Amino acid sequence: MSHLISSLFPTTRNKTLFFMMAAGVKNIVFKNGAKMPIVGFGTWQNSDESMDESIDAALEAGYRHIDTAYLYGNEAAIGRALKRWFDSGRLKREDLFIVTKLPVVGYQPDRVEKYLKRSLKALQLKYVDLYLIHQPWGLIETGENMLPMDESGNLLHDTTIDHVALWKAMEAQVDAGRTLNIGLSNFNSRQIKRVFQSARIPPSNLQVELHVYFQQRELVAFCDALDITVCAYAPLASPTMIPAFAPLGGDVDSIPRLSPLTEPVVVKIAEKHGKTSAQVLLRHIVQRGISVIPKSSNPDRIRQNIQIFDFNLDDEDVKQLDALDRGSQCRLFSGNIHKGMDKHPEYSFNEPY
Ligand code: NAP
Repeated sequence: MSHLISSLFPTTRNKTLFFMMAAGVKNIVFKNGAKMPIVGFGTWQNSDESMDESIDAALEAGYRHIDTAYLYGNEAAIGRALKRWFDSGRLKREDLFIVTKLPVVGYQPDRVEKYLKRSLKALQLKYVDLYLIHQPWGLIETGENMLPMDESGNLLHDTTIDHVALWKAMEAQVDAGRTLNIGLSNFNSRQIKRVFQSARIPPSNLQVELHVYFQQRELVAFCDALDITVCAYAPLASPTMIPAFAPLGGDVDSIPRLSPLTEPVVVKIAEKHGKTSAQVLLRHIVQRGISVIPKSSNPDRIRQNIQIFDFNLDDEDVKQLDALDRGSQCRLFSGNIHKGMDKHPEYSFNEPY
């Protein structure tokens, strides 16, 4: 059967879409057969105070994939909320797909186990479903400070990191059963290829910024060829990222001001289908076989963001949405938004894709 599917649908993306269409299943399928729900719940900037309500709303609405990171500082709040659900018998661990990320100060191989164990403790889990290297550039570990900076506010880079050695430590976490899958985030194609070529366990997933103004066509095709699935972060173009970064002292003026929710083309298509702009934007990505992880702290919007399986964007809609792509000039998370970020030798966004 899998051979038949492979010959009919030679690429991961087509195989993914086949599974979605054939079974009505809202998952993307990794090369090793693991299934990741195609809509996940993003949690960056979701405060501890709102976490219980947000996780309840998300799980009640049908989300089974939650995205967090050591850096977000919210794993313990998520862990408490999940424990309530497990204790009440409403969900079992295996019903969920939990993603977290190695912090940027953990990129020496001997630190990976420590940080993953800390994440697991905070999440009150024995394993995560996917562990990602948060970004390709790393920082010097100085105590518990996750964003160490010098007196001028420049990030303190660890320039000795080696992705190949780091990946071996990631693979060891799979061997130890602490994560079922491993992947990358914010890596460019050259960096992905280097890891991929040396990997015993290839990356299952790449998490990158991807939205209607920055559709990442080349990078998605590159991943497709390697059977690496893609997850889109900032799928609504992260409307509150500027206030989040402003206090860090970086160059927030360089961040493009994007408003896809009020983009006339999007609004018109939303009206046509009786859906919201957010639903159209998320559906556009999901129809490409790419996972989305929209964040919201608002129960109504949390519910709205997963109600995208009861309509279909037709060819004309897709053509108009595809045409909104402006490429990397609309990349939000880049450059000097953290002072000195783009000076690291492994800073990934100077290359075409
Ligand atoms: P996003 O999901 O594109 O946008 C979130 C923002 O949109 C929030 O301010 C939210 O406000 C608003 N929003 C959500 N649903 C809406 C709707 N239906 N209508 C109108 N507004 C809506 O941006 P993001 O949070 O930056 O990215 C999503 C997730 O990706 C993150 O939470 C995180 O898990 C992950 N991420 C990963 C990386 C990485 O480096 N790997 C980087 C950034 C993000 P309300 O809360 O008020 O609804």
